[in-house]
Amino acid sequence: MLPPDQIETIKKQLISQLDSSNIPDKENIKNNITSMNPEQLEEFLMQNNLIKKEDGAQEAPQAQQCIFCSIVSGQIHSYKIDEDKDSIAVLEINPISKGHVMIIPKEHIPTSDKLPKTAFSFAEKIAEKIKTKLNPKDVQISSANLFGHEVINVLPVYKEETINSQRHQAKPEELEKLHKKLEKKSKPRRVKPQKIKKIKKSESKKLWLPRRVP
Ligand SMILES: [Zn+2]
Repeated sequence: MLPPDQIETIKKQLISQLDSSNIPDKENIKNNITSMNPEQLEEFLMQNNLIKKEDGAQEAPQAQQCIFCSIVSGQIHSYKIDEDKDSIAVLEINPISKGHVMIIPKEHIPTSDKLPKTAFSFAEKIAEKIKTKLNPKDVQISSANLFGHEVINVLPVYKEETINSQRHQAKPEELEKLHKKLEKKSKPRRVKPQKIKKIKKSESKKLWLPRRVP
């Protein structure tokens, strides 16, 4: 656990970083940071890769074992093109064809019958976008289970590709280009307000003091 004085320092640093950024929703994020308790702050820092677990510390089992949970939480970089409340859509880095996308449910869902219905409608939506932007002959949607986490493949078909066709490792430039093409033009990131308790006025005031120069 982080010592209390360090927590205050970290919060102030984060807030001053936000102040100097042009993130659209930063007031909201700042309020959330201000009101985080030490556990929430630590969790937030880890999820954003700002700190690492101490050696020997127990990682949450899902984060440790499942690559998709790590992608969802942002611990592993991905080319995310869209998301809805239940799933994210990322570019497959070992695609079968150009624009191969994976729909990853945000929860660690172990079997296909537990996949939220919204995951399929979301996949359909992404498939439509791929059709418009990349003009394949067809787009196939199929679920798969990897590392015990159900995902949905959205596979553009240009020739005779199927989900069992050979994959290749995509070059970063290739992925960047596709990402630009398919990315949803973003609304500001929504911060879940219900997860974070409101804090007392006196406390929030204290945190708005200008950062001390070391
Ligand atoms: Zn998982």
